[in-house]
Amino acid sequence: MAKRSQDDELVFLPLGGSNEIGMNFNLYGFGPPHDRKWIVVDLGVTFGDQTTPGVELILPDPAFIEEHAHRILGIVLTHAHEDHVGAVAWLWPRLKAPVYATPFTAFILREKLREKDLLDEVSITEVPLGGSIELGPFKIDLITLTHSIPEPNGLAIRTPLGVILHTGDWKIDPDPLLGGPTDSDFIRKLGDEGVLAMVCDSTNVFVDGHAGSEAEVRDKLIPLIGTLKGKVAVACFASNVARMDSVIRAAEANGRRVCLVGRSMHRMAAAAKSVGMLQDIKPFLDDNEAKHLPPKAVLYLCTGSQGEPRAALSRIAEGTHPHVNLGANDACLFSSRVIPGNEIPIRNLQNKLTERGVRLYTERDHPGIHVSGHPCRDELAEMYSWARPEIAVPTHGERRHLMEHAAFARDLQVPQQVTPRNGDMVRLAPGRAEIIDEVTAGRLYVDAGVVVPENGDALRERRHAAFNGVIAVSVVLDGRGRIVSGPQVRALGLPTANEEHLDDVLDDLADEAETALKRLKGDDLELDESIEKAISRGVKKASQRIWGRRPVVETTVLRI
Ligand SMILES: [Zn+2]
Ligand SMILES: [Zn+2]
Repeated sequence: MAKRSQDDELVFLPLGGSNEIGMNFNLYGFGPPHDRKWIVVDLGVTFGDQTTPGVELILPDPAFIEEHAHRILGIVLTHAHEDHVGAVAWLWPRLKAPVYATPFTAFILREKLREKDLLDEVSITEVPLGGSIELGPFKIDLITLTHSIPEPNGLAIRTPLGVILHTGDWKIDPDPLLGGPTDSDFIRKLGDEGVLAMVCDSTNVFVDGHAGSEAEVRDKLIPLIGTLKGKVAVACFASNVARMDSVIRAAEANGRRVCLVGRSMHRMAAAAKSVGMLQDIKPFLDDNEAKHLPPKAVLYLCTGSQGEPRAALSRIAEGTHPHVNLGANDACLFSSRVIPGNEIPIRNLQNKLTERGVRLYTERDHPGIHVSGHPCRDELAEMYSWARPEIAVPTHGERRHLMEHAAFARDLQVPQQVTPRNGDMVRLAPGRAEIIDEVTAGRLYVDAGVVVPENGDALRERRHAAFNGVIAVSVVLDGRGRIVSGPQVRALGLPTANEEHLDDVLDDLADEAETALKRLKGDDLELDESIEKAISRGVKKASQRIWGRRPVVETTVLRI
């Protein structure tokens, strides 16, 4: 063990994933305040929505730790879900620390790094399941858990000031189909040793009972698929390889062969095979083979359960998929849940499928064709009874989840609870747990492949234009500011009743621009900037009168 100094502290600092579900980015620091050594646990993304038009990916802002990048001993990844690994390829160049992961997670990560040309730069150490990592004052043991992806790991992080159990994402699945069961013996033993703090998944804290087992899903799918006569499509998350395996077995039990549809299905199947999963199954059908088999001999395993517009299932629903079409007598099973925020796209997708005559099967009408990967209340209670931590630190949840989780831990007699937000630095030891500092935490957007700040100009302008429209004005002036031609006005995204109305409106706006220009005197007429400003102001005012809106106005001044 490293030498201890009087000033040593053990701190936990979430920079993502606390007060939200997504973009997990957790830091643990050890040492005196001026010389802490850090480890990073997970570096994930979250996804854009209607409020961030054009932004697909959102990353946690690493500004705080980037300044201390030379003190990062390692980045440890718990599992391969996007909200835990998706930001590594984007942010690694700012952190440049060695990465540790189990084989399946490492496989997925390497693919992401290859896409960004970083594969040769990043040092990835593959740690076996149940293996250990030693990083300065942190001695880390990986604990096999169960979740909804292969190789989910909890971390036992031993430090000179106490042991942290960082659960990552988990549930207690007695029959996970792939991978081992939850290593409860290890966690109990850790509890006997004494756990200082448990940093724990809060996703399902409002749900009573147990999440349910993957084996139950398989047992539901086999007879259900047996009742179907036409083509069958099953939508699920590609990363849930156990589910993929269940669907394949349910298909085979009913004389159907499986055709994978969607890029991530193929990618995940390859990753799974690389670690010895999906072995004793029939080869997948390719698109052409599937087309030439009778409907009752085929099952399509599809991406796009969340209504993602470019994913396989949306294209099937639109009738634009090059290889798969579904219609009357065919069925689509959603072996997935509705992720909050995706309600509208999923409803649209399901309506389009129904329009084509496809019969839908969802978790709501057919309970058991999906189970969650996160712990419900009985499972949380069980985990607390094994680990018996001194401090509960709820994470992986929105504010309401974290507060409920803290109250639940209090009811379970956990002596202390802390519920930090992103950027809150919690001192876990010595002394009582408390928030001692607040550091920069925020979001970065990946906008057309460029990483930009959350409140950057491009998105703000795009949002403004999306709601209010755009007006372009151009005018040609001579050297003294007299009009040679124009102003010419074009309006985009602004409604008019008909051609005639449009002409009237554009004339009106051109007059306004001209009036604004003619009001300028002296030097102002020689400065293009003053002219552009004056015209924009005039046109905005007129737009307010015409439409009750303030569009983006773009003025171009040309001089001859
Ligand atoms: Zn997660
Ligand atoms: Zn997960």
